[in-house]
Amino acid sequence: MPEFVNCKHCKKLFAKFTHSSYCENCAEAAEAVFRKVRDFLYAHPNSDALTVSRATGVSPDKIFEYVREGRVAVVPQSELNLKERGGDD
Ligand SMILES: [Zn+2]
Repeated sequence: MPEFVNCKHCKKLFAKFTHSSYCENCAEAAEAVFRKVRDFLYAHPNSDALTVSRATGVSPDKIFEYVREGRVAVVPQSELNLKERGGDD
């Protein structure tokens, strides 16, 4: 018997078959957002979170969440600043 829980996002009651806290619709929407970030990083691997955020419309918080989960990797802001400052020596 599946456990019924409220979706974390839309609060709809759904049968929890997986470890997901989101209903099928919200899980799909979340996956689409993730794919947008992943695809952008695939095309532009040396991007920092802010660049990705501006290009995809996904909030930096969400992007850092993916980074924490190990799903994507972004260039740390500080490293980018170092590169931009380059040329001093
Ligand atoms: Zn939902």
